[in-house]
Amino acid sequence: MYMTRIKTPIALAVRRAFFAAAALALFPGSGSCAPAEPTCAPAGCNILVIVVDCLRADHLSLYGYGRKTSPNIDAFAGEAAVFTRAASQAPTTLLSFASIFTSREVSSHGVDGWDKALGDSALTLAGILKIYNYHTAAFVGGLNLNPLFGLDQGFGTYSQINRTDASFKDTLPAALQWAVEKAAKKEKFFLVAHGNDLHTPYVFPAPALYDRGYKVRSGLASLSGNEAMVFAAYKRKLRLGKTGQVVTLTGDETAHYVARYDEGINYADGLLGGFFSGLRAAKLLDDTIVVLTADHGEGLFDHDYFFHDFNLYEDTLRVPLVIRVPGLGRREISRRVQLIDLMPTLLDLAGIAPPEGAQGRSLKPLLAGQEPGPGFDRDIFSESGVGGKVIRSGKWKLIRYPGRTELYDLEKDPGELNDLAGTEKAVAADLEKKLAARLAADKKNQLGEPLPASGKFAADMKRDNAYQKKFYERIPSLVGLGSAAE
Ligand SMILES: [Zn+2]
Repeated sequence: MYMTRIKTPIALAVRRAFFAAAALALFPGSGSCAPAEPTCAPAGCNILVIVVDCLRADHLSLYGYGRKTSPNIDAFAGEAAVFTRAASQAPTTLLSFASIFTSREVSSHGVDGWDKALGDSALTLAGILKIYNYHTAAFVGGLNLNPLFGLDQGFGTYSQINRTDASFKDTLPAALQWAVEKAAKKEKFFLVAHGNDLHTPYVFPAPALYDRGYKVRSGLASLSGNEAMVFAAYKRKLRLGKTGQVVTLTGDETAHYVARYDEGINYADGLLGGFFSGLRAAKLLDDTIVVLTADHGEGLFDHDYFFHDFNLYEDTLRVPLVIRVPGLGRREISRRVQLIDLMPTLLDLAGIAPPEGAQGRSLKPLLAGQEPGPGFDRDIFSESGVGGKVIRSGKWKLIRYPGRTELYDLEKDPGELNDLAGTEKAVAADLEKKLAARLAADKKNQLGEPLPASGKFAADMKRDNAYQKKFYERIPSLVGLGSAAE
């Protein structure tokens, strides 16, 4: 394992003494209980958030995966806090980004499909930082991040590539250049960089690092034939988007897709390595808090699904979360955290209070090796745009699909293979009650507003949203597997 765990009492004592000394050096007279602060805090740290679309945590070598998929991310994380149990609020880009940017669950920000946009009343992370004189920019790709959905709020520069296959190759050079220009003018910045390299269809160059000569039928090798709207497969059955034909994937074919996905991680990792080098060469890492995460993961046939929007297993909801804060060093943190925690954390590090209605918690104490205050460990909620809901409470995770409920003990069964909904009925009923109460509370304070009805792109996205909901309901029958309640 690449990381060093700081777990012996002596190491902890040394670490604590170091943090206390660092805090005293920065804030003389503030007492030995002063929290550890980033070394860039007095002048104000820049903030950079990197989002790797579709990156599930357990396929990174950083998190112990068998293939060495992410050497550059692993090295970068060697100087950072690595959260081993971070949850996304949604398995869909738009929904998840809206949560990241507002620190609200999906039912609270209200953007639960491509027929919704973030309301003008939403206080976004970029919007707040802009008020505090940060220069703000986002370099992103993919249809879900079109400005039509309101996620550009608060960004002085919002560069979006309106293609599903938008790559870090397109976004990172522009992001680096922007950051270097801001730094040269001594302008404090908040920057978001996003790449869609791991999203189907896999169009990055094919070094065939992990494909061991799997036999794949022509037309299925690249998934590009399915580009139309349907990327999803269910129970190894893939319905081709253009012809509607249903094919059953062989073991070699599913192994090929997983290998391609892993090669995509390696490809994105190489681009990120160049980006990190650029940041280091420009001496930006001394003054910049850097977050690396994913909006959601990807179903890779571990359960019934290939793809993400429909899938609420940890395959799609457990995401990498790496936070590098100058001066706070490396650390591995196993507390359950979630992506809505990012906004309060980054604001806290910048000395700014979170907005009213933010549902996440600041992770700053954890980053500094301190115990967070009482009430830190809470239930964590996730939602899909097609009707699925999740609550994690302690070791339990309940998934409620339309017409079906599953319950897992994540401690004993992290792979979610043993559904206990039928045997642990009291636990399931209790979680159902908590879930219903949370959803009702979220609905009371929604920020979502309908999209403007005009424009072809808006109309296309609305049509896709309706199509996807219908598709989800019909998945089993589409692939000849009977009803959705199976
Ligand atoms: Zn995404």
